[in-house]
Amino acid sequence: MHEVGIANEIIRIINDIMGEHPGQKVDKVKVVIGEMIAVVPDSLTFAYTALTENTLLQNSKLDIEIVPLTARCNVCSRKFNIKEFEMTCPYCFSQDIAVNNGNELYIKELEVS
Ligand SMILES: [Zn+2]
Repeated sequence: MHEVGIANEIIRIINDIMGEHPGQKVDKVKVVIGEMIAVVPDSLTFAYTALTENTLLQNSKLDIEIVPLTARCNVCSRKFNIKEFEMTCPYCFSQDIAVNNGNELYIKELEVS
């Protein structure tokens, strides 16, 4: 399952951050994930919960924010959201577009106690 790899990546990033803050406990994790990564939030939450069981991250809550894929047309310069991976400008139908994001995966916020 794709989400297990993503969950492992998130846990690795959190552990890196928490390595610099020993003695603190993570309550909530806000992750930002690009639409391009095509994560199923429920599957990711399930994988995260399973993988953090009996670790320092046990009982921490995962809050997932999906960032839509956007692009800018190189012909008419308009910005638009890409839906269903249709790589065509909806205004002028050019395929000469620059994709802005959709591949991000990062921790936006960590709530610790
Ligand atoms: Zn265009």
